[in-house]
Amino acid sequence: MSATHPVYRAWAEIDLDAVSNNLRWIRYGVGEGRGIVTVVKADAYGHGLPQIAAHLMQNGTDILGVANVGEAAQVRTRGEGWPILMLGACYSSAEFESLCRDDAAVTITSSEEAVELNRVARRLGCRAKVHLKVDTGMSRIGVTPDRALELAQEIGKNDALDLDGVYTHLSSSEEDASFTHFQLSEFKRCLEGLKSAEIAIPKIHAINSGGIVYERSWIGNFVRPGLLVYGIVPPGRRLARSEWVDRLQPVLSLKSRVTHIKQVGPGTPVSYGQKGICARYSILATIGIGYGDGVLRSASGRMEVLLRGIRCRVIGVITMDQLIVDVTHVPNVRRGDEAVLIGRQGSSMITCGQLSRAAGTIPWEVLTSITQRVPRLYKGISVG
Ligand SMILES: *Cc1c(COP(=O)(O)O)cnc(C)c1O
Repeated sequence: MSATHPVYRAWAEIDLDAVSNNLRWIRYGVGEGRGIVTVVKADAYGHGLPQIAAHLMQNGTDILGVANVGEAAQVRTRGEGWPILMLGACYSSAEFESLCRDDAAVTITSSEEAVELNRVARRLGCRAKVHLKVDTGMSRIGVTPDRALELAQEIGKNDALDLDGVYTHLSSSEEDASFTHFQLSEFKRCLEGLKSAEIAIPKIHAINSGGIVYERSWIGNFVRPGLLVYGIVPPGRRLARSEWVDRLQPVLSLKSRVTHIKQVGPGTPVSYGQKGICARYSILATIGIGYGDGVLRSASGRMEVLLRGIRCRVIGVITMDQLIVDVTHVPNVRRGDEAVLIGRQGSSMITCGQLSRAAGTIPWEVLTSITQRVPRLYKGISVG
């Protein structure tokens, strides 16, 4: 990949070496003995699922976590036999069938689902791997801790199912230590119940990205990071525990170009609705990226862009295809100059976390909002 992309006016650079670096540090952090379910749902958090999945396979993740059957199928095209875990609950036999055909492990949250999956697996003449989901405080999917043992036993009665895992999901791992510890103790209670009933389950996991960086010890023999793999520490009120988090590298940079420059006088209104007003004589640069590319409109008037290594504030509302920045303080801005919305330029850097704060949201949403109009350019090892 060359340093410039003349045919693109807005693009995302994806640094695959950073992905492998992050995976290595996560593995080091949680201990070599622990497996990793790397979460690649939502187009690998906007980084491109096929490319990221292939790269993770080459760099030794253990399981790839997805959120729907289409994503499971997409991962499967990149690696025959590679372990996949579907993290959502399935609502129909057709979903179960799709997962069975792609040989993906299925999340089970009720005996009704277990019976239905068993019927599908028998019809297809295959065995289905099952992960039992326990709801310890998300109130999203899963059985209550009291019902976990019973469900494990019911799963065991289905001859085409293998109970391969049991897991829960943390709701507040970056924000609330005491609620996180409550959830983990509920989960531990389940595990003890299963153990005393002599039900051995090979894979146990509860720890998401927040759990990895904000907890001191990690329950289970697998962890389940998403955001961290993409080089971003979940922002929260808790104090990150792990010294190695500084070694994580952001994977995605979001860039565009100056398409137009103009000088305006004091009182000049800027963009739709005249929400931006230039207080003084100003130089404005128009950048070729907007909310149609996924730059959240809620960041209007607040987010910054790097030009010539200098931070420039967006003036007025972000439009579908363009946004306008004040470059009065930046010498020699030219048409065609590269503008950085997320990433480094010179000695300056804007993080995904900073853009998220400006937009009043979280890094997960900023990343998954980047639209298909934005080409992803891969840098690092070629994955074809
Ligand atoms: C999305 C998701 C994850 C990954 O979450 P991060 O906060 O990005 O690490 C893990 N487990 C489940 C069940 C998920 O839905």
